Amino acid sequence: MNASVSKNDSLFERAQRTTPGGVNSPVRAFRSVGGTPRFIIRAEGPYFWDADDKRYIDYIGSWGPAIVGHAHPEVIRAVQEAATRGLSFGAPTEGEILMAEEICKLVPSVELVRLVSSGTEAAMSALRLARGATGRDKIVKFEGCYHGHGDSLLVKAGSGLLTFGNPTSAGVPEDFAKHTLVLEYNHTQQLEDAFKTMGDQIACVIVEPVAGNMNLLRSTPEFLQTMRRLCSEHGAILIFDEVMSGFRVALGGAQSLYGITPDLTVLGKVIGGGLPVAAFGGCADIMKHLAPLGAVYQAGTLSGNPVAVAAGMTTLKLIQAPGFYESLARTAKRLTEGLSAAAKDAGTAFCADSVGGMFGLYFAAEQPMDYAAMMKCDKNRFNAFFHAMLDAGVYLAPSAFEAGFVSAQHDDAIIDETVKIAASAFKQLT
Ligand SMILES: *Cc1c(COP(=O)(O)O)cnc(C)c1O
Repeated sequence: MNASVSKNDSLFERAQRTTPGGVNSPVRAFRSVGGTPRFIIRAEGPYFWDADDKRYIDYIGSWGPAIVGHAHPEVIRAVQEAATRGLSFGAPTEGEILMAEEICKLVPSVELVRLVSSGTEAAMSALRLARGATGRDKIVKFEGCYHGHGDSLLVKAGSGLLTFGNPTSAGVPEDFAKHTLVLEYNHTQQLEDAFKTMGDQIACVIVEPVAGNMNLLRSTPEFLQTMRRLCSEHGAILIFDEVMSGFRVALGGAQSLYGITPDLTVLGKVIGGGLPVAAFGGCADIMKHLAPLGAVYQAGTLSGNPVAVAAGMTTLKLIQAPGFYESLARTAKRLTEGLSAAAKDAGTAFCADSVGGMFGLYFAAEQPMDYAAMMKCDKNRFNAFFHAMLDAGVYLAPSAFEAGFVSAQHDDAIIDETVKIAASAFKQLT
């Protein structure tokens, strides 16, 4: 195909005239990998098609939500049926109760849950709740973890260990960032030191228990266990941000894999099944601080939207099919093992990992275990690989530092086709 006549190019040019950078969320702009973003016109099962009607095997799945495959007939039917009854009421519906009951059943640490419309909103609200419930201001987060774009969370480490953070975005006041302590992921001793120094000021620790926003990075059990112990000892609230890992790494989320009970859990992505639903919930004693019961304010015109809840509920039912996660994990493993073998054949330094239906690809000789190691992965090699795969009809996350996702519709034949394409892509690198 002649790139100069691609409809993606002309759409991107047009988009930039009315939308900052031509996109409504930065990673879509391909800035990290270079080139023109693909404008998607439709999706089905494991595939989507761009404006030139070129088909791709999709490994982002809308960044997680498309776990049962795109445009699953049962999800679409539920959405259509809900839409015919009206789009939004600004008054409660039974669907919201069903959804809350389902979340509490699947994630037992959640006794009370509030539905919202985005992961950002859920994480921001969980922080306010933690601060309101403890009467403390300081929060602890980890470098490389993403919790949406709330002001307190767009913060990187300060100049020294245990110094408070600096904003990573213009427009975030220093005064907000100074309440956020940023520590290194999987560095248990830093947590010990932080609590020893200022344990009585820390409202909460927020963490991605399986990190998916600096590529895929597992936490060590010791890291999460220490966090749980220190929070309990010092009266701080432990928040697991499972927006990505929830209903993705296992039916019960990362907390079920590690056997750790957080005080609050933040959910999103899969629970909306492709429509805007997110949630935060946890232990009733904490959740009772939320309005209208308590003094911590939080609200939303479209929270618990009936059409979005219909998509989410149907997805939550589908993922409870017997063997769903075993099969999803097998698919992701078949992919990472196939890619690793192909890279080895080509003599490329490469590793891969997966947890449930989520995977990470690393252009490095050894699997990274912290943020600093992750940042040493060979970005240029990834970018060349990304474009070779894209040209051949495989859509990977357009950044060396994002995780990938498989759906229940990615069968063995699709994985094997992907691995075959990758084998030739790896050879082009050398
Ligand atoms: C995607 C994500 C968010 C933000 O969710 P949005 O719906 O994009 O606002 C927060 N936390 C984690 C772990 C995420 O992966």
